[in-house]
Amino acid sequence: MTKTIVGFPRIGAERELKFATEHYWKGKIDAEELLAQAKVIKNDHWQVQKEAGIDLIPVGDFSFFDNFLDVATGFNIVADRYRQLNLSALDEYFAQARGYQKDGKTVKALPMKKWFNTNYHYIVPEFTPTTEVRLVSDRLVKEIEEAQEVGVNAKAVVIGPYTLLKLSRFLDGAQPADFVDDLVAAYVDLLTQVGQTGVEFVQIDEPALTFDVSETDQALFDQLYDQIVAQSGSTKVILQTYFGDIRDVYQDVIQKPFAGIGLDLLEGSENIKLIQEYGFPQDKILFAGVVNGKNVWRNDYTETLDLLNNLPIDGEVVLNTSCSLLHVPYSAKNESQLPKDVYRHLAFAVEKLGELSDLDHIRQGHADDLLTNNKVLFATTKHPVNVAVQDRISGLTEADYHRLPDRQEREKIQQEALNLPLFPTTTIGSFPQTAEVRANRRHYKHHEITKDQYDQFNQEKIAEAIKKQEELGLDVLVHGEYERNDMVEYFGEKLDGFVFTQNGWVQSYGSRAVKPPIIWGDVSRVAPITVAESVFANGLTDKLVKGMLTGPVTIFNWSFPREDIKREGVVTQIALALRDEVLDLEKNGIKIIQIDEPALREKLPLRQSDWNEKYLDWAVPAFRLVHSGVAADTQIHTHMCYSEFSNILTAIDDLDADVISFEASRADFTLIDDLVANHFQTQVGPGVYDIHSPRVPAPSEIKNLIEEVIEKIPSRKVWINPDCGLKTRSESESWASLKNMIEAIQSIREDA
Ligand code: GLN
Ligand code: ZN
Repeated sequence: MTKTIVGFPRIGAERELKFATEHYWKGKIDAEELLAQAKVIKNDHWQVQKEAGIDLIPVGDFSFFDNFLDVATGFNIVADRYRQLNLSALDEYFAQARGYQKDGKTVKALPMKKWFNTNYHYIVPEFTPTTEVRLVSDRLVKEIEEAQEVGVNAKAVVIGPYTLLKLSRFLDGAQPADFVDDLVAAYVDLLTQVGQTGVEFVQIDEPALTFDVSETDQALFDQLYDQIVAQSGSTKVILQTYFGDIRDVYQDVIQKPFAGIGLDLLEGSENIKLIQEYGFPQDKILFAGVVNGKNVWRNDYTETLDLLNNLPIDGEVVLNTSCSLLHVPYSAKNESQLPKDVYRHLAFAVEKLGELSDLDHIRQGHADDLLTNNKVLFATTKHPVNVAVQDRISGLTEADYHRLPDRQEREKIQQEALNLPLFPTTTIGSFPQTAEVRANRRHYKHHEITKDQYDQFNQEKIAEAIKKQEELGLDVLVHGEYERNDMVEYFGEKLDGFVFTQNGWVQSYGSRAVKPPIIWGDVSRVAPITVAESVFANGLTDKLVKGMLTGPVTIFNWSFPREDIKREGVVTQIALALRDEVLDLEKNGIKIIQIDEPALREKLPLRQSDWNEKYLDWAVPAFRLVHSGVAADTQIHTHMCYSEFSNILTAIDDLDADVISFEASRADFTLIDDLVANHFQTQVGPGVYDIHSPRVPAPSEIKNLIEEVIEKIPSRKVWINPDCGLKTRSESESWASLKNMIEAIQSIREDA
């Protein structure tokens, strides 16, 4: 069988591309050197694939920052403000991705958004009435030639026009339909050029087909592809989809003259039913996505072979990954410090290449030992079991998910107990992570200072933060989170059941990569996690100090979870561990506890009809389980950022928190109208200024915003806070902005 992959990670085995581009940005190397280093990285990756037996090697999946931006730029979709900088093509590209500030000229970067339900961020291109779409780049052709020169059998890869239109922004009255003809011409030009290189296949990625596809969308898709495929000449087009199934367009797609169709048979397992129900044309090749591009685990060959054997297909089947391997780390080879059981179960990108090849060998009947070994691996693997946790889960009842009394009642009780002023002020949790704060953690980690020295430094910082907040006049104080590197890693390290890689980096955006923890065993809390810091801070002031936790859904979503049990099970274990922490905080005198869920929104299924059943129905209860045990006069807060919430406000209300703080200022405060329209019940602190920018907002500016909020939302439900934690800001910016925020609210309280 032919083997291919949808795409390969590009940051390099040791994050070489990150360091090369960052050196270029800092002026340490020139463009020529950057291109030379990129060439080496690309070639290495092609050779790794070739050696692993991949027959069709994707070319065009490489990128200096983001492949969505590459496609937009290649089709001349570049806003005038970047062109006017008169930069080289490479620098104009980076200016769009990162913003530009030099010689008195400043232009902001294009916005960035999460790529479907992954933690990868793409750059959002912008179409305006003056955008002239045409092919202006020979990047893809050059890269194919580069690959062919080193003996690589290339499959050209490009993101398709439908996804490009669905994920871009349209400004000043521009509409997707205005660009159809030009886009068709541009893609036909590209396919013609690519055809001349002699490659057999072009993979056009259309993941946007896994969203809900409306009739208008469907018409758009038809308009684009009926023309593109008809004019594509001899080049064989593979329509590649991933991250889900294509139930809205399946019957249409199989009738179009594509040479091949790429389907994700894992996350898009519904695709299997579509094939069974509607068949799959004999004259087309099925690119079967059976090796998971999103998890870090070994493939279960028995399961995969069963899946393939049960597909009612007469034509050719190509073995493929479910999506690009961009979403997993490069190689597990050097993760020697992990427990052996975990290590032998890991398959990062390089190992997944080997799995495709194994599957092929086994199918051909030459490699029974591979199948046997794989069976043994799965049969003998033992995930650490915690009987106490499992018993606790079996003992859970409906009542454990319901906090009593109900929220309205609690509001009254808490008003009495907490005695907060109208429009209480607070912050989201973290205070600036200055160089000294980070150095303290680093020195401790490298055993250069003792635990006492480490704690003492943090206590001094906490004391400073408390004093500062008292001086500013904030109502609900925080300890500042100086002990935390990252909001998930910090909790993962303290919980049983998690393991950490040394080099498991996954690209998040541009040169940034994250190293998600891996959930391997039953999760439990070994000891209190945050109690010491909160109690210490609480003892320094008469004001209320808010405890600070990361919620179960966010911890789950930002990790690589085990797959031998259902995700509901994993997230419930995390929730129980956090529940104990909440109760411990309460027992130790903490009256307000915030449970952050910034990643709740991010893993919503791509199709709205799946939202409840496949996600919210277990995510929301997990959060409720964390806090349902507290007394009526303990106030539970949560916080969310990074996304739009308008369509999940009911689910957010269902979390049954007492207060939520939102990121709102970047979204132009449209959130407020959505809250009103949804009869939102939870008390709410819509962030009144944007902490992502170094700008210090004036009191009058903040006051205007607050007035807008209280015009629409009952005053007793409104909290005042910045829109996220202050960890990335400097101290001077933070204090100045908070001072202005307090000044604004005092003036409003006086008017009230
Ligand atoms: N409490 C965290 C902080 O203040 C929340 C971070 C987040 O929302 N991403 O940093
Ligand atoms: Zn936030």
